[in-house]
Amino acid sequence: MTTAAPTPPTDPVRPVALSPSRAADFTRCPLLYRLRAVDRLSAPPTRAQARGTVVHAALEELFALDAPDRTPTAAQTLLPAALARVLAATPDLGVDAADAAFLAEATALLTTYFTVEDPTAVTATGCELRVETVLDGDVPLRGIIDRLDIDATGAVQVVDYKTGRAPSPRGEKTALFQLKFYALILWRQRDLVPASLRLLYLGDGQVLHYRPDPDELRRFERIVRAMWTTIRQLRNNGDFRPNPGPGCRWCDHRALCPAFGGTPPPYPLDGLAAQSTSGAPRRIEQQENPE
Ligand code: SF4
Repeated sequence: MTTAAPTPPTDPVRPVALSPSRAADFTRCPLLYRLRAVDRLSAPPTRAQARGTVVHAALEELFALDAPDRTPTAAQTLLPAALARVLAATPDLGVDAADAAFLAEATALLTTYFTVEDPTAVTATGCELRVETVLDGDVPLRGIIDRLDIDATGAVQVVDYKTGRAPSPRGEKTALFQLKFYALILWRQRDLVPASLRLLYLGDGQVLHYRPDPDELRRFERIVRAMWTTIRQLRNNGDFRPNPGPGCRWCDHRALCPAFGGTPPPYPLDGLAAQSTSGAPRRIEQQENPE
């Protein structure tokens, strides 16, 4: 597998914070975290990432319609405009507006979406919501929630779309980590424990549910806090080590990784405070690990 050439950031610098994606990176491999969050290297989106980004944009536009109008036909009609909107924001998406095969692949994902839930019966209070909080004044967390719903009883539900297939039990742990992360931010930001969080896998129509409770979130908060403490220590000395594993097959940065004979760029000890650990502000779907 060839490794795409990483590129430095061109997006605006944001304050330091931990996002679910970067936390998952750190858990998987500290060096991967460093390359993405500190060096802020990125690779061109894969076709799967591009597809995921456009499907997310189409679903966001679908939920801007009145509930009765959220039909499969409407979703498919919205796709070309969603692709155009994403292309305008991300010219390096790797597809063009006339890519019929790409639109057909995205249409298939939207078709599966309608087998998972009925959007005409959903009350969404927000889509693509940026949420953030600071735990005890020193652990900044940030994320983007695909959709926040409220049901007939007033209960709040978080929905996240995944355009890949449902993960194996091992991958499920990573998915649950992301859901707990969102639940923790909402709990601390709004003093609100969501009734449920759902991951909708549009690749195969599976749904992963999580019902948080405050005791579990307290335990999770301790885990996140410990992770942030470790990251802060490593940011001071740059000792982010590789942790090779099966996921290296999909790593964009193998050419820079000592585990594969590469050399990381010099650690940017100067100017760390001006760098972001949140990931790129633009919305590109993360590559989902096929495992
Ligand atoms: S190739 Fe593997 S060990 Fe190296 S940075 Fe990527 S994930 Fe980490």
